[in-house]
Amino acid sequence: MSRMQNTIQSPCRISGRGYWSGQVNTLTFLPAAADTGIRFVRVDLSSRPVIPAVAESRQGMPLRTRLAANGAEVDMVEHVMAALFALQIDNVEIHCTCAEMPGLDGSSQPVALALEAAGIRPLDSRREVLQVSEPLCVEGKPGQFLRVEPADAPGLTVEYHLDYGPDSIIGQSVYRTQVTPTIFLNELAPARTFITRQEADSLQAQGLARHVTERDLLVFAAHGPENNTLRYPDECARHKALDLIGDLALCGVDLHARVTARCTGHQLNGLMADKLRSLWRDSAPRTAGRVAA
Ligand SMILES: [Zn+2]
Repeated sequence: MSRMQNTIQSPCRISGRGYWSGQVNTLTFLPAAADTGIRFVRVDLSSRPVIPAVAESRQGMPLRTRLAANGAEVDMVEHVMAALFALQIDNVEIHCTCAEMPGLDGSSQPVALALEAAGIRPLDSRREVLQVSEPLCVEGKPGQFLRVEPADAPGLTVEYHLDYGPDSIIGQSVYRTQVTPTIFLNELAPARTFITRQEADSLQAQGLARHVTERDLLVFAAHGPENNTLRYPDECARHKALDLIGDLALCGVDLHARVTARCTGHQLNGLMADKLRSLWRDSAPRTAGRVAA
């Protein structure tokens, strides 16, 4: 049984610099009618292009998820999308003042708390659900896979296996959970993105993310995070689960499934979102007002 669709009760705003560009982006979340979906609007551009947050808009990029449509793009949307999906906010317009989402503290928490404070308003229309009847799998390098299987019960469960090998300074861990608004707020939203010192040096040598410090995300050196403290012992696996939820949100419908991921990143997550989205498009009856964006 599906739930009712939701939007937010009142507008809310959040602002911050993008990791990659350094540009300040002010996001204004506005309530939207049922079946609008999640839509980014680039209000800094004169034509105010709309970018629907669905798999059809996805562009493959290293280390982040970018969406493009109508001649414009939005970048690093995964942490915003994870918060909206997990909090069951299905319809919202997000006005942006530049392409890249604010990096904030590297987690979904500031966005999730702003949305929670704005309040959730149910709408008079049911949320569509995709239930897979057979397992689906995408694979990357050896040991890297993402599997979606029929669930024993309604809802979405995710299990993320993080393993960068025995020599990695980021330890092996597994995080599994059911995805509910409460669990997301308490266990996933605060989990921050991470990088190794070597990766950070290499990006900054290329002139990227110059303003970002080890206080803005987790930078791992041999002894652990530099100038920072873990919020959970398995914070990295939790963050990877958060990224996965944000990428699967591009299906544009609820998922009742059991998802197991091992060492996946945005590329494999995005490929699975494409598969699930086309499965839904092929199977769903076409009705007015619910045409794929
Ligand atoms: Zn992330």
